[in-house]
Amino acid sequence: MELILSVPATLLCLSLVYVFFLIVISCALQTSPGATHLKFWALSFWSPALGGILIVLRPYFPLWMSDYLGCLLFLTGLACAWLGTRTFFGRPAPVLFPLLVIFGLLPTGIVLDTSFERMALVRQLYIFSAAGVFFALAAAECGRGKKGERLPSAWAGVLVFGSFSLVHFGALPFPVFDPIDLTTSMPISRWLFVMVVLSLLHTVAVAFVCLVLAKERVEIRVQHLANTDALTGLWNRRAFVDLVQSHLQTTDAAGTLMVFDLDRFKRINDRHGHLVGDRVLQAFAGFLLALEGPRVICGRIGGEEFAVYVMGRQGPDMDRLARKVCLGVSILKVPGKDGRIFFTTSVGLSDTSTSGRVFDSLYDAADHALYLAKRRGRNRSHRRDADALLVAAPPRIIDAGARLSA
Ligand code: GH3
Ligand code: MG
Ligand code: MG
Repeated sequence: MELILSVPATLLCLSLVYVFFLIVISCALQTSPGATHLKFWALSFWSPALGGILIVLRPYFPLWMSDYLGCLLFLTGLACAWLGTRTFFGRPAPVLFPLLVIFGLLPTGIVLDTSFERMALVRQLYIFSAAGVFFALAAAECGRGKKGERLPSAWAGVLVFGSFSLVHFGALPFPVFDPIDLTTSMPISRWLFVMVVLSLLHTVAVAFVCLVLAKERVEIRVQHLANTDALTGLWNRRAFVDLVQSHLQTTDAAGTLMVFDLDRFKRINDRHGHLVGDRVLQAFAGFLLALEGPRVICGRIGGEEFAVYVMGRQGPDMDRLARKVCLGVSILKVPGKDGRIFFTTSVGLSDTSTSGRVFDSLYDAADHALYLAKRRGRNRSHRRDADALLVAAPPRIIDAGARLSA
């Protein structure tokens, strides 16, 4: 029983846990070999696993190997836990600071090395302080996160790394007031035993949090890819329809749907090639993206078909907005094969007050209005049942630029 609950036995368990997670991270590295954070995290398990084994096998190694090399390996693992978390959140890994902390153990030990006990005490205080600092830094990295990314488990990271840091800072008085008995080949200490057990629990928690964070990031990216149109960065058709439908079902607020179709787009492709055609689509999408906000959803719902849904708004204001888009687009210039090219769009509108709160009926009405806008000459907006609101757009594209500069 005593053997099971001894410091070396729990240290060995800790080393085995490190080895287990090292295997898990090595498997993850197979699928993402370039991931720097995984390399640091792998090192943060590999290095203390070896250090722990050196310390456990103290009687069989020279003292410099078990006590100093073992401690250096432990410190390397702590630094890598922080660097892994830092690079995971997209920040660069500083080298100098961790190296100074890791190798600072040696001069600190030598300078203050007046006796065997004093040397051991300095080493213990040094490692606990370094662990406290590195885990506090890792907690801060989780708290800062990455710009534009919200990983829910980042707060679990703050909690676990923060608690790990507190455990090490909290343990600082123990080696001073209750020194470890190092006269035997195996260190004997009750509080050290508790520390190793706490380290074991925290290591498991940290490893799980890191794996969950990596999984959350992949899930968010997959979801983003599934909902986004790769060419334009707008919502794709499915995501756009889902978002509009959810607004229609969850609120009573009015809404306006605009369906855009680029005019004579096939000609642009035929004359300038598909690459230029793609640039035109991107330019148009960029124009729509400028409109997007908490109450405006923009999507690419077909090849050269786009849609905008404005929440809480309907009526002549929306016709004015549609006209502004037509005008704005008609003066956009895109580099073509032989000089800059202009393009135009037609738009059909429908709103919840006339077409109801079902997406299909809204879409049907806007699509029909779009068809009428095309028939009436293109480069204009139209609604099916409000001919009075029909807005004539500039008759010739070339005039649009002249009017703007006038
Ligand atoms: P209309 O004014 O009546 O809308 O005429 P149109 O030429 O725009 O309409 P049509 O439906 O005949 O042509 C649409 C073209 O859009 C055909 C297709 O090759 C092109 N297209 C669809 N998706 C893409 C894309 O992702 N990139 C490029 N470059 N072209 C695309
Ligand atoms: Mg079309
Ligand atoms: Mg078209």
